[in-house]
Formats: sequence, C-alpha cells, structure tokens
Amino acid sequence: MYNSLFIYNTISRKKEEFKPINSPYVGMYVCGPTVYSDVHLGNCRTFISFDLIYRYLMHLGYKVRYVRNITDAGHLEGDGDSGEDKISKKAKLASLEPMEIVQTYTNGFHDMMKVFNVLPPSIEPTATGHIIEQIEMVKTILEKGLAYEVDGSVYFDVEKYNQEHNYGVLNGRKLEDLLNNTRDLGGQDQKRGKLDFALWIKAKPEHLMQWPSPWGMGFPGWHLECSAMSSKYLGDQFDIHGGGMDLAPTHHTNEIAQNVAACGKHPANYWIHTNMLTVNGQKMSKSLGNSFLPHELFTGDHTLLHKGYSPMVVKFFMLQAHYRSTLDFSNEALDASEKGFKRLMNAMALLDKLKVSENNEVDIKALEQKFEAAMNDDFNSPILIAELFDVVKTINSIYDGKANISETTLTELKSLLNEYVHNVLGLKDEFSETNEIEPLMEFLINIRKEAKEKKDYVTSDKIRIGLQDIGYQLKDSKEGTTWSKT
Ligand SMILES: [Zn+2]
Repeated sequence: MYNSLFIYNTISRKKEEFKPINSPYVGMYVCGPTVYSDVHLGNCRTFISFDLIYRYLMHLGYKVRYVRNITDAGHLEGDGDSGEDKISKKAKLASLEPMEIVQTYTNGFHDMMKVFNVLPPSIEPTATGHIIEQIEMVKTILEKGLAYEVDGSVYFDVEKYNQEHNYGVLNGRKLEDLLNNTRDLGGQDQKRGKLDFALWIKAKPEHLMQWPSPWGMGFPGWHLECSAMSSKYLGDQFDIHGGGMDLAPTHHTNEIAQNVAACGKHPANYWIHTNMLTVNGQKMSKSLGNSFLPHELFTGDHTLLHKGYSPMVVKFFMLQAHYRSTLDFSNEALDASEKGFKRLMNAMALLDKLKVSENNEVDIKALEQKFEAAMNDDFNSPILIAELFDVVKTINSIYDGKANISETTLTELKSLLNEYVHNVLGLKDEFSETNEIEPLMEFLINIRKEAKEKKDYVTSDKIRIGLQDIGYQLKDSKEGTTWSKT
C-alpha cells in the first residue's frame, strides 16, 4: 500500500522499516514545551522536525493522531525532584497567577509555531488538565509494588523495577553503570535508591500549584504527565514517541518505566530524538551568551548576527540539516540558506511563466521516486532539498529555452513541487510580498537617512517608530540600514 519508510529508532539504535500497529492510523506523541519563558530556538527546531515527520506521514496517506503536550506544572528547576516549580517561580517574580504565566507563554509558543508554519497537533493536553489520570497511574504503580510512599511523596523504585525489566533500555545502558554514574543520596533524601524518581511530590504550604491526593496535598512529578497523557489518548501501545535528545536519558527513560510498570507494555514502538543547536561550533547556551531567541534571529538584533533572517529562511536553514545531526548557526550558513531559499522560491514562481512545447525532457516519475527515496530514508530533508535544487536548474533551463517540457508534464511538475515544498517541507513564499514592499522601504529608509543627516531626529524617529508600530524593524549598521518584519 505504501512505499517503505525507514525510521531511526533510538531504542534499537538502527533504522527500521516503519510498520504502524493499526495502519493507516498512526499515533505519535511528542513532548511539548514547559511554558514558563519564551520558546527558544532549540525547541523550535524540535517542533519543526516533528512537523516535517507529521507532514510526511500524512503525505504517505497515514491518518495521524499527533499529541503534543503543554507542561504547565510539575517541571522543577534542574529537571529533578526538588527545587522550585519553573512556572511558580516565574509567577512569584512577576506577581502573577501561575496560570497567567502559562497562558502568556502558551500563546507565545503558538504564535511562534504559526510564524514557522508548523501545523498544530491533533490534541494538545496539559499536565494540570490531567491530574486525575496521573493520580490513577501512581495508584496503579503502587499496587504493582514498584513505588513507595514516604511522608506524602511517592517514588518509583528503579532497582526493583529493573529486576524484571530493563530500566536503561532506551539508551542501551546497564543499571550498574547508571548507578555508578549517579551521585549518592544525601542523608536528608527520602529516596531508597539513587535512581529513584518522584511520581508525586508533597507540596509545602507555600507551593502555588497543588492538588489533593490519597497521599495528601501535592503535585505530580514531571515525567508522569507524558506517561498518563500518551496512554490516555493513544492507548497503552502506540507507534511513535519523540522529543529532543536531551530528554532520552532521564525523562523518556522514566516514562518507559512508568508505562511498563503500570500496564506491562512498552509505550511506543519507535523512539525518535532530534539533535541540538550549536552557534559557531559551540553549544548554544544562555550562560555562554550565544543563545538567541527566534525574534532576535528575525530582526538581527543580537551581537552575533550581522543581519536578520526571515522565519522561512530560518526554517529552510533548519531543514537543510538532518534532524539527527547537530545544526550550527553562523551568519555565513544563514546567508547561504537565504540565497538557496530565494532561488527555490524564484523557481517556483517561474513555473507559471514556462513555455510548454511538444517535446518533453522532464521525467516526473523519476523525480517523485528521488523525493520519496530521500524522505523514506529517515526523513532526510537535506537530500530532498538537494534534489529540489536539481529541479530548480531544470526549471531555469526551460525558462531560458535550453530544455523542453510538455503541458501535461508541467501540470504534474507543479503539483509535485507544491506537494513537497509547501505540504511536506511546510515552506511558504514570503519573498513575493517582500519584493513588493522593498522599493517602498528603501524610499522610507532614504528619507530617514536624510533627516538624520540634517539632525532632524523628530522625523527620523517618527519613521522608525511608525514602522515598528506596523510590524517592521529597522536596523542600523556600518553598512547602512536594513529592515525586517517583526
Ligand atoms: Zn514528556
């Protein structure tokens, strides 16, 4: 029915043929953001990667139920079982309700996903909306004897679980090695084992978000929500579970343990993990001062950037790397992607201007096979894009009268490119609009420059602020003034 798709499965560490449990239906769960701050670029890359996967599965004809959660409680600082809740902390600092923080950053996250033309998931459940399901899961794991309660908190017993199951299965790690690489418990710790983790955490009276439970007032451990919500919406066993690769060693490892403990089955057949971002070869991190937010990348308003790049250029740049490779940000690489993206969009626009002839030299079937071969090899978008650039060359030669295409083939080519460029890669043309306003912007930038030269700062500021109000940002540099959409 379908061509064979191969997916790299973290759990087996090899590419496996994709065989859904109940074809054509596919269940996919992806760990969503913790909504306590602006979504960062690494997260954007993860969700753009899973958007590509979602779109390609639909292209193949699968009916996908895509669940991506919102973490709005239980995620503590340092990703552990102690410390402040990330959302509560932000709420206290801003003197706001935790749910105001959640709403603000959920809206911001959704806006950013729209800017990147990322499709919304089928279901977007929240941790606070599934407290009952999480409590039920803790009860089940307690009944199975794989968790224990200490003074209002409940912990998962990793060593007991490992007697019958393989705790480190996702990353191919042995329990002894994991134990050797973990710090000893402090004298105050309630946990019995070094690797044990909280399923339910007793809340101090001042903790802002807490719920009644059989063990007293408390809140769920961070890993629990994904186990409870994936099984609720996709069943005890489903096809794909994904997230950033930093989640694999702990969050996903604990998720598997919780699901297996609760129902005896491994939750997902294919585990997909996306790689990280680097900047000029260094890991992107706030402490190194080399991390930027998406809007800083769009406006170019960051010391490491020499100009801004539009959202589709950034997305195209991300898709030019395979989702399992690290992706390095540099001005040179972004400039190259910008050129490439414009070349592709210009070729797409040329399709309507091509002259058809009796002769035909374009083999649509062969192209389609190449595109599918690229994507069927673990969603290899960089290879797909390289194939698309070959088509760009062909389109340009037809336009220059150096090659021929028939009317039927041209219609097929348009629909094939539309499918892969717009529906599979999720790219849209933002330059046709840009091209139209470019002369107008240059005109305004020149008036502002003249005003500044005459020291007429009232006029120059009026232009800058006025443009900012309607969504255009000007950036001055030694080379002159450039503009970008905000
Ligand atoms: Zn998760």
